[in-house]
Amino acid sequence: MSDKIILIGAGLAGSLLSVYLAKKGYQVELFERRPDMRKTNIGAGRSINLALSTRGIHALKEVGLYEEIMKIAIPMKGRMIHNRNGDMQFQPYGKNDSEVINAVSRGDLNMRLMDLAEKNKNVTIHFNERCTGMNFSTGEVHLTNEVSSESHIEKGRTVIGTDGSASAIRMDMLKIGRFSFSQSYLEHGYKELTIPAGDNGDFLLEKNALHIWPRKTYMLIALPNIDGSFTCTLFYPMEGENSFEALKTESQLLAFFQKEFPDALALMPTLREDYFTNPVGTLITVKCSPWYVEDKVVLLGDAAHAMVPFYGQGMNCAFEDCTYLNGCIESFGPNWETVFKEYEKLRKVNANAIADLAVENFYEMRDKVSDPLFVLKKKIEHVLEEKFPGIFIPKYTMVSFMRVPYATAMQRGLVQDFILNELTIGIERMDEVDLIKAEQLIRDNLTPM
Ligand SMILES: Cc1cc2nc3c(=O)[nH]c(=O)nc-3n(C[C@H](O)[C@H](O)[C@H](O)COP(=O)(O)OP(=O)(O)OC[C@H]3O[C@@H](n4cnc5c(N)ncnc54)[C@H](O)[C@@H]3O)c2cc1C
Repeated sequence: MSDKIILIGAGLAGSLLSVYLAKKGYQVELFERRPDMRKTNIGAGRSINLALSTRGIHALKEVGLYEEIMKIAIPMKGRMIHNRNGDMQFQPYGKNDSEVINAVSRGDLNMRLMDLAEKNKNVTIHFNERCTGMNFSTGEVHLTNEVSSESHIEKGRTVIGTDGSASAIRMDMLKIGRFSFSQSYLEHGYKELTIPAGDNGDFLLEKNALHIWPRKTYMLIALPNIDGSFTCTLFYPMEGENSFEALKTESQLLAFFQKEFPDALALMPTLREDYFTNPVGTLITVKCSPWYVEDKVVLLGDAAHAMVPFYGQGMNCAFEDCTYLNGCIESFGPNWETVFKEYEKLRKVNANAIADLAVENFYEMRDKVSDPLFVLKKKIEHVLEEKFPGIFIPKYTMVSFMRVPYATAMQRGLVQDFILNELTIGIERMDEVDLIKAEQLIRDNLTPM
């Protein structure tokens, strides 16, 4: 049997995975439906920039791309909260400057991953090749060229579906028996807007922060780009009284921004064009099982588990999938069915956990971050982390700055939420926290990690 592996989708996960597989000596054929973004001026897809954190960084280090990518990344040390009256409040993400998340351009990252992939003589990327389905009995993949409209069939030792949240491979898995599938849309959509750079490429907002304008049922965020601009994303209901559907005219748009985000509005000269030109994206959670069919095919990244972006973990989780699949190939290859089975066993429960945490974090970001009780709890978290190292670790830290399984982070996070709730009953200030009670609660409920 040939050592050819077919990957469907040369997005973030597919491009990275091809490098892992090439390093193991496999011949990798990647089929990507879009043209080559390094040669054609196409948008790189959803969201212009992304937050890269520890799990994604670990994978980049494993394939030797970390240094290259960090050249185009901007560290974000915390959240900068913008109130309606223009006041700002900085909330650090971690306990020091090494605990940062990194803003990186999706397009640049994808292009560099493709460059690195193609440096391996055994990786070939075929562009304009849309997968239209798969025959799971024979392992044959059906492809159609988007330019010539010609169809052909490809077959390899196995197939990996890295074709994103609307995966064509997954669609065909729906047709076979005992395949569980759920998708749920958030009632909110998103639209990208811009704060351009100032004169000489100056950043017009604090550079090393993720900016948030939380407004209870909706929010605006902004991440920095290396050219001094910020990509802003408005998360807003799709329908209803306050919604994208209702916000139709220039005067409505300006009145809305003037009332809700006046400091941002002052920095957005292209707001009208951006708002009326850019599409509204939808926000989806996809869960499915099993992720594989025998030794024929497996799903990875958004194809297996799309999640809403509010923990900044979709790509990081997809990159961590690559790390785990690589580990399973090391342990069980070339018995592909066992590789896929073990990989799903390790990842599925964790993908479910981070998908749920991501939805939960939406409510935290848009609603709670400016709440005094939330701010007090964050302060207590940092103090407890300092006093009980390795035992009390904030949930955000476990998810973003460590590689502990997401399900563990979720479960310990729930226990810690209980402890924080107990400690904040009837108090308003940090100096009122009963540290003896804190120690008792921690000893009773948490074990060292
Ligand atoms: C607004 C927004 C903000 C986000 N922010 C973050 C963040 O800060 N941090 C983070 O970690 N994640 C973030 N994410 C999530 C992240 O974008 C995804 O999790 C990540 O892109 C998944 O990578 P992937 O390779 O699995 O899928 P994709 O990046 O979607 O790649 C899939 C590839 O497959 C190709 N393809 C699709 N169908 C076919 C087909 N039929 N045939 C051939 N090719 C096909 C596509 O063209 C694409 O190139 C965000 C997402 C959104 C929407």
